[in-house]
Order: sequence, then structure tokens, then C-alpha cells
Amino acid sequence: MQKVGILGGGQLGRMLLQAAANYPVETYVLENDSECPAAHLCDHFTKGDIRNFDAVYAFGKGLDSITIEIENVNTDALEKLEAEGVKVFPRPAVLKTIRNKILQKQYYAKHNIPSPEFMVTETRQALQQAAHFLPAVHKIAEGGYDGKGVQVIRKQEDLPRGFDAPSVLEKMVEIQKEIAQMVAINSKGEIALYPPVEMVFDQSLNLLDYQLCPAAIDDKTLWKVEAIAVQVVKNFESPGIFAIELFVDRNGAVLVNETAPRVHNSGHHTIEAHFSSQFDMLWRIILGFPLGNTDAILPSAMVNVIGAEGFTGKANYEGLAEVLAIDNAFVHLYGKKETKPGRKMGHVTVLSKEKQELIHQANKIRGLLNVQSTSE
Ligand code: ADP
Repeated sequence: MQKVGILGGGQLGRMLLQAAANYPVETYVLENDSECPAAHLCDHFTKGDIRNFDAVYAFGKGLDSITIEIENVNTDALEKLEAEGVKVFPRPAVLKTIRNKILQKQYYAKHNIPSPEFMVTETRQALQQAAHFLPAVHKIAEGGYDGKGVQVIRKQEDLPRGFDAPSVLEKMVEIQKEIAQMVAINSKGEIALYPPVEMVFDQSLNLLDYQLCPAAIDDKTLWKVEAIAVQVVKNFESPGIFAIELFVDRNGAVLVNETAPRVHNSGHHTIEAHFSSQFDMLWRIILGFPLGNTDAILPSAMVNVIGAEGFTGKANYEGLAEVLAIDNAFVHLYGKKETKPGRKMGHVTVLSKEKQELIHQANKIRGLLNVQSTSE
């Protein structure tokens, strides 16, 4: 049986392990927190820091393959493991490019992949010279996630709000739609595309509000999205699964926002709504089996379950029974003991042939399900 390790033990690792149960594979997880969402679903848990060279190297030595559920891992250790014959999904060189926004943007430019125009700023002081580039969005090169590390700079007075660290300053796009395209690519270079999804954002928290699949885009836009996504993935020359976030602007132009080289929040609906989920697909790629069927069984909506403002402590799921009573709703709780404002605690997928029904149910679920804490 192949031995496969996952760096990181969050909800993505947890759902990856749920899918692993169907395959001949022995699973390993490395994570600092022994109570993390993935800790109790793997065959072997190792407590350790995924950013530490020695921890990652010792964990990976002796495994057949290794994958990630978060980009912030020790890539030097992964490169050494790769050189010694451990297969790494995605390849460490790709991880290095993607997890640094400057390198990621330069990659798009080099391969003629449309992406918002940008300039690099090394310090906050350097940013002050960029008034001619506004309105823009300032993005810290490393360490940002879920909207942290992103700052909107509309006018000159906003410039002091920028990051005092290497960053990209991106021209503000007039966004018509935000789309995500999942792409699977195996070791032979064969590619499978999921139907793109459309994302609707909560302006206050900058976290996903709800998501619809398939995205409501015309055929021409769909072809652009697919062609661009394939272009992004092909040039990485790495097997794995990739989530490409794109903007459709007011003029219908399609631009890449960013890529994640791993299973992703925008693919959660594939667990129930598609023949082969993103998690199932990654196991097929890692274990060398044929790619799965990416077709939708039914259209779907997905709602993230987020820790409510003002509550920190032991999680309590208000309205859970009401949501579970909804036909065609699938609830996933991630097993996080503690809630805090904005923390991703779970998600709910609903399936329906009718788009209006999906939107209605997504909004209903958002209103019903509330993650609070039992003790303040
Ligand atoms: P994160 O990796 O933290 O999610 P993103 O780069 O995806 O950060 O940016 C978060 C959000 O900010 C996007 O979903 C989008 O709504 C907005 N945004 C990012 N870049 C631009 C841009 N160039 N123009 C307009 N809005 C943007």
C-alpha cells in the first residue's frame, strides 16, 4: 500500500482523508496541533511544524508521496525529498512560485496569462511614489490569506495604509464576476476541468458569502476561462489539483487573480454535486489511477459556516437541526473545538436543478446557521 503524507491538518486535510478511506493508501499528517480537524482521520499523526526543515524532511522520508493543504510549508525540505525520490504534489518549484505574490504575478506575465497590471513595491516608502497607479489593490507578497494581506488603495491619502514589506500593487479591476476554475492534471499531463463556479462575497469580512455552480457566464467567457486556466496549469509542469481564481471585468475581459496549487474552498461542492470530487480526484492523481469524471450531477450552491462576530470559545451550532431538515442540503462541520470571529467552521452544499432555489436555500442557510460560543 502506498504511503502518502499531507502537510497541514485543517479542514482541507480532513476532507482529503475522508476521500482517502475509499482507496488503498496509508495516510500520514504533519501538523502542530494534535486536536486539528485532520488529526483523528489519518492512519498516522505526527505533531510538528510544517514550516520547519527538519520536521518536514523527517516526516517525508520513507513516504511514497506527499501533498499539501496549505502553501506555507518548508519547500527546501520538499525539494530535498523530491530529489531523493518522494513524489510531491504539487512540485516544490510550483509552490515556491505561487506562494509569493510577486513571483506568481511575474509567472503570469512571462507566460502571457492575462492578469491585472501590477508593479512591485518593496517598502511602504516606495509605495508613496505610486500615486499614478491608483486606484489599486496592495497585496503583501507572502503570508496573506482570506483577505488578510490585501489593502484597497483608492487615492493618494490611502497610500500610508499599504504594507511595509515586499508587495504587489495591482490596478483595481472593475469586477463583473468572480469565478473559480478547478483543474486537475495527472503525471502524464492529462487534464480534467470542473465547471467554473461563481463567487459572491461578503464585503465586510472579505470571506466567501456563497458560491454557485455552474457560474452564469456565456460560452465565450467560459472558453476564455478554460483556456486561461489550462495555460496556467500547463506551464507549471506539475501534476496536482489547482484552483484558479479569475475576474470577469466590466468589458468581459477575463483576468487571473490568483492560483492555489491544492484542493480549495471553491471546490467543496464537488463532494456531493460532482461524480468525482476534488478530494477524490487528488487521490486518483497521487496514486496513479485514471482521472475522475468532473461533470456535475446537479447544479449546486455552497455556503461557508463562519464563526460569528463577538463569540470566541467552545463552538455551538445554532440552527443545525433546521438546516439538516432541508432537502438536498449537505452539512460539513470541520471538528474545530473553538470558534472565533470569521473562522471557517464548516460548509453546507445544496443541490437543485433550479438556480432560484439554490439562491433561496443558500440565503436561508446563512440566516439559520450561526456559530456562537457556549461560554463568553
Ligand atoms: P486572498 O488571497 O487574501 O483571498 P485576493 O488576492 O484573492 O486575496 O483578494 C481578495 C479580494 O479582493 C478578491 O476576491 C477581490 O474581491 C478583491 N481584489 C483582489 N484584487 C483585486 C483587483 N486587482 N481589483 C479589484 N478587486 C480585487
